[in-house]
Amino acid sequence: MIELKGIAAAAGISVGVAYKVDKEEFIISRQDISEAQIPLEIQLFEDALIKTRREIIELQKKIGLKMGKAEAQIFDAHLLVLEDRMLIEEVISRLKKDKLNVAFIFQEVLKKYVSIFAKIEDEYLKERVADINDVGKRVLRNLLGKEKNSLSELKNKVVIVAHDLSPSDTAAMHKKSVAAFVTDIGGKTSHTAIMAKSLEIPAVVGVEDATNSINTGDMLIVDGTLGVVVVNPDQKTLKSYYSEEQKLKGVTEKFLFTKGLPAITIDGVKIEINANIEFPDEVSAVKLHGGEGIGLYRTEFFYMNRKDSPTEDEHYRAYKYVAEEMNPWPVIIRTLDLGGDKFLSQFQIPYEMQPFLGWRAIRFCLARPEIFKVQLRAILKASVHGNLKLMYPMISGIEELRQANKILNEAKEELRVKGILFDEDIQVGAMIEVPSAAMTADILAEEADFFSIGSNDLIQYSLAVDRANEKVAYLYEPSHPAILRLIKNVIDSAHKANINVGMCGEMAGEPSFALILLGLGLDEFSIPPQIIPELKYLIRSMTLAQAKEIAEAALRFSTGKEVEEYAQAKLREILK
Ligand code: PEP
Ligand code: MG
Repeated sequence: MIELKGIAAAAGISVGVAYKVDKEEFIISRQDISEAQIPLEIQLFEDALIKTRREIIELQKKIGLKMGKAEAQIFDAHLLVLEDRMLIEEVISRLKKDKLNVAFIFQEVLKKYVSIFAKIEDEYLKERVADINDVGKRVLRNLLGKEKNSLSELKNKVVIVAHDLSPSDTAAMHKKSVAAFVTDIGGKTSHTAIMAKSLEIPAVVGVEDATNSINTGDMLIVDGTLGVVVVNPDQKTLKSYYSEEQKLKGVTEKFLFTKGLPAITIDGVKIEINANIEFPDEVSAVKLHGGEGIGLYRTEFFYMNRKDSPTEDEHYRAYKYVAEEMNPWPVIIRTLDLGGDKFLSQFQIPYEMQPFLGWRAIRFCLARPEIFKVQLRAILKASVHGNLKLMYPMISGIEELRQANKILNEAKEELRVKGILFDEDIQVGAMIEVPSAAMTADILAEEADFFSIGSNDLIQYSLAVDRANEKVAYLYEPSHPAILRLIKNVIDSAHKANINVGMCGEMAGEPSFALILLGLGLDEFSIPPQIIPELKYLIRSMTLAQAKEIAEAALRFSTGKEVEEYAQAKLREILK
């Protein structure tokens, strides 16, 4: 039995058998080969092409039966890539000339093709890059004798162990087949962790040794609450974890009685408690836990795990559903926030050294108004079905807010011309997640209807700590004095301009930090649905005056650690 320590990413305890997933990106070493090996390498290449062809035809048949002919035809393009004489001949001639292993050469030729296609100013040809990549990976896998891992096709319930998982890998998982997951790298507020929470799959990330120490078939206990993974536990440990699991379930249920009750402090101040969702069907979890609205609907997951972008009608149907289900409660739709650690294959975003500082979120939408407008029109159209608001991610200053609103106004005008109704007074908010926005909150407050603080990003940008990097996770401190001061500035500026301010980052769902936020004057908390009952209970157990005292004291400390210890002690006092 060994115990591994990591970062608690998604709460809960699961016991299950490990299933190790190899890295999708293959590291292929360059190896010299002799003249005599050339025919063998060519044979290897041909076998891999034949095997890949067979796989694709089989997949095409399956998809054809399940989804129809049109969907199956997508694979015709894949088959064409496999038959491309130029590509095949280039691999063989370079193999003969350079005398290197075929896997290495194939990968090089593939890279060249991808970069040529990506540069061509033609949408159709650009889309072929995804096909080439897809087929290329299949061929490489067959060349290296690897099995294809498909997380969405797992049959038995397992614990996934991987070096890393992207948010879209996680989005493809099902609670039915994945008991938990463990990764070598990652941080608490990475989108992979956020996705695990929304799927209610316990997860521990940043376990540096996970893929080295765990083998497929090992028995694992994954404690996503404490960030611990036990490999091949003895009976005694297993038993104690089972009883801990029961206790945890009991705690969640204990607070569920708050479901129909408002989040109101003892001295009569009503606080808005909303939920964060990633998928429309999560509205049932929101209602089950007593959420009074949705403070953050992360719509980019709608674009994931698919080759095309959702159509305006698909957007509209999803937003209409959420609006109607939650009506009359508010639903804040956050416009497309791709980039950072969320990549969407259909947009072919160029590789960036610092994706979190790069072409992401509102920057992408302002540069591609034709994509942005599809979503904006759909939100506007759905606004007649409930209480919808919208907000833009990653606003860094007033000019971006104005540019986004200009495009929104164009979208509104397009609907008016067609006689399509929408909520003319729809509220438009700005996420405050870039330090420059937090510092100029007074200016932004003049032109935004509300603020929502995205603490996950605000912390990473202010403290210069990559939110998805376990190596610097110890520096990621929501309680850092710089963060508290920034938040105070945002709240005070919003209130001076008479607008509401919420927080939809993970910080809002940590009870000890929530105490401080409440005291700083936060109007709305948007958190994962499962935490709502506990937060409501906390708010109902204290006065706003008490919270204000706590916040004032917290602002006087000089380190995040002191703030955290103080807030924890106060929390224990209140919940006693
Ligand atoms: C945030 O940054 O706090 C936020 C809520 O947005 P996301 O986590 O999706 O970046
Ligand atoms: Mg963010």
